[in-house]
Amino acid sequence: VRRNNLSLLLRTLRSNGARSRAQLAIDTGLTKATVSSLISELADRGLVADIGLATNDRRGRPGTLVELDGRGVVSVGLELNVGELAVLVTDVAGRTVYEARRPCAASQLPRHRVIEALVKLCRSAIDEARVHGAYLYTEINVAAPGVVDADGRTLIFAPNLQWSPIALAERIEDELGLGIDVVVHNESNLAAIAEHRQGSMAGHDPLVLVFCQVGVGGGIAIDGRVLRGSSGLSGEIGHMAMVRNGAECGCGGRGCWETLVGLAPLLRAALGSEAEARLQDRTQSPREHVAELVKRASQGNNKTLKALSDVGTWLGLGIANLANIVDPSAVVLGGIYVDLAPWLMPALRVAFDQQAMRANVERCQIAPSSLGINAVVVGGAILGADRILDNPLLAPLITSDPRTSRRTS
Ligand SMILES: [Zn+2]
Repeated sequence: VRRNNLSLLLRTLRSNGARSRAQLAIDTGLTKATVSSLISELADRGLVADIGLATNDRRGRPGTLVELDGRGVVSVGLELNVGELAVLVTDVAGRTVYEARRPCAASQLPRHRVIEALVKLCRSAIDEARVHGAYLYTEINVAAPGVVDADGRTLIFAPNLQWSPIALAERIEDELGLGIDVVVHNESNLAAIAEHRQGSMAGHDPLVLVFCQVGVGGGIAIDGRVLRGSSGLSGEIGHMAMVRNGAECGCGGRGCWETLVGLAPLLRAALGSEAEARLQDRTQSPREHVAELVKRASQGNNKTLKALSDVGTWLGLGIANLANIVDPSAVVLGGIYVDLAPWLMPALRVAFDQQAMRANVERCQIAPSSLGINAVVVGGAILGADRILDNPLLAPLITSDPRTSRRTS
């Protein structure tokens, strides 16, 4: 009960902002004495802090405002994708403590080298946080570009990495050697969590994310969480069948949406014969390919403009299918689509308006992500911070001597 009430207070502070203890008692239905006792425990765990007197208390006696603090308690989101590794460390209130990206030709290197590089990035992030007096007490959430089992232990299938099944969580835990749990997620699902909670369309429910780095994935956030499906495979929207007997897809099927709107078909249509060399050059990350497309489109290159318009049309048709099934309040375009949106959106809109049912056309908002490429690591960090909000007892008590401020456990 105590744990649940501690969690209730933290969540109230997160959603409603700083409050006095008296206000918290009203918000939560707990007694003032209980609130005071719980707040002092949360303060001892470094999760809340007093920030001065409330100014406009009509009852006369001004109360001290409490806010969600958690500067000393961090969460780590880690990302493994085809061209890059990334890490984000936030505190429990969602403030960025540290972030870094490193190029990594993951599909060309031996797997153990990629895992070593990922763990090195993660370890330096944890060390950096520690220098700032912030410590990790939750699992590390790792994004991978593929299908992950329901327990978040095994990366089952990652066509663009060409990795066969691998016990990725265990490999990272062993390499890290800190006794910290690791949970692996599909990258698009983490990005969908981030969009649903912190993006410009936050609060729209259901929210559909269409996400492309190399392949196309997605996530459906509904009733405040991401739909996982019976075995964790929900959101494989890139493999919606769009063309009978169409181009071969990495999944083994043909004519999937990904074969029309993924990075490779876009590059082939936009760059012609130059595309193959770029695609073979695994040192180039998706971001660099996109920068090239943006450059050509800005210069008015016809081939590139036509390719982007065609991809926009196919995006519009696929999104109309999704909208007719899910009836979302918002659809967010993430990954490479963000920077390309100015050229994709006009054709996308036309195709969507023609194909989606009238009610969807009128209600559903479609917009590029405001979080951009960071959405994936933001989603991972949100899950870790949620764990602390669910169970504040994970953050240990801090000793009272402020000069040492060592944590007792
Ligand atoms: Zn497919």
